[in-house]
Amino acid sequence: MAKRYDVIIIGSGPAGYTAAVYAARANLSVLMFQGYQVGGQLMLTSDVENYPGYPKGILGPEMMEQFEEQARRFGTEMLPEDVTAIDFSKRPFKLTTDSGEYLARAIIISTGATAKWLGLPSEELLQGRGVSACATCDGFFFKGKDVAVVGGGDTALEEATFLTRYANHVTLIHRRDSLRASKIMQDRAFKNPKVSFIWDTEVTEVLGEQAVTGLRLHNLKNDEVSVLPAQGLFLAIGHQPNTDLFKGVIDLDKAGYIVPVEHTMTNIPGVFAAGDVTDHRYRQAVTAAGDGCRAAIDLERWLESQGDDVGVENWN
Ligand code: NAP
Repeated sequence: MAKRYDVIIIGSGPAGYTAAVYAARANLSVLMFQGYQVGGQLMLTSDVENYPGYPKGILGPEMMEQFEEQARRFGTEMLPEDVTAIDFSKRPFKLTTDSGEYLARAIIISTGATAKWLGLPSEELLQGRGVSACATCDGFFFKGKDVAVVGGGDTALEEATFLTRYANHVTLIHRRDSLRASKIMQDRAFKNPKVSFIWDTEVTEVLGEQAVTGLRLHNLKNDEVSVLPAQGLFLAIGHQPNTDLFKGVIDLDKAGYIVPVEHTMTNIPGVFAAGDVTDHRYRQAVTAAGDGCRAAIDLERWLESQGDDVGVENWN
């Protein structure tokens, strides 16, 4: 028989772990599906210096270990598996994973978002060998090197400026001739002597076998093809929310982010969402954690409003 829980949390980033701490401390039985990639995006980050309470900073993976330890302390069960299907049509909700079926009176979705890639075979081949989607994580390895950043949004400009701490030179490659980034970020990058811009251009190939040696570029206005020597390529072309599993059932916006309808509750009563899966604006560990707290409190109140006693033992 499928095992039953008051709450099943899907996703193991700051939102999921914080929700687990709050829900378990509210005396609810909690199971978290951590996903096969436990810990979420912070596992790809080096120093986290802007999370309050860590005055000296902390490494992303270490921080996630501490989040997990804190959630376990209050009795959250955890399985490092992906959820492959959910039956939202009746309560308790039924969730399927590789290890079986699980029932939940309520669900918190905290599946996060994933960096977008260009989709080039050469880009995939050289990931971790000069190609990265996280300047904060990998910038350090490019001391004195020439690197390129693709994108024209705040992330691209933030990363380009950040990379000048290490790199000899940073070239920002954008597919149009105007940036979508905020004025202040643009000004900062334009003023930086180590940043230059290539407009109306796409990267069609990452060159190199064991490491990146250059980029093949295509000018979209005059069709010219050129090669830019570079030892690193950073993608900053946005993020994709991890919501494939919920399409057609949970309300999503144009970009695929979950749109909560009442505080953190989605259009399906009893299903809540927290963290980057609902947030394309802030995308911070601390905002995700705050969201996880809100979702757990909303969920607890919603269960109470259903007139059920909390605690799986009270189910019939
Ligand atoms: P974004 O604003 O969606 O920008 C993505 C950029 O990548 C755009 O310039 C887009 O070009 C380009 N792009 C998308 N797909 C591409 C492709 N296949 N090939 C080449 N270029 C491609 O994403 P973001 O910069 O990650 O920002 C996301 C949100 O977070 C924004 O709301 C942003 O303001 C916010 N944010 C804020 C800060 C901050 O305030 N410190 C820092 C980072 C992010 P087009 O312009 O032509 O569409």
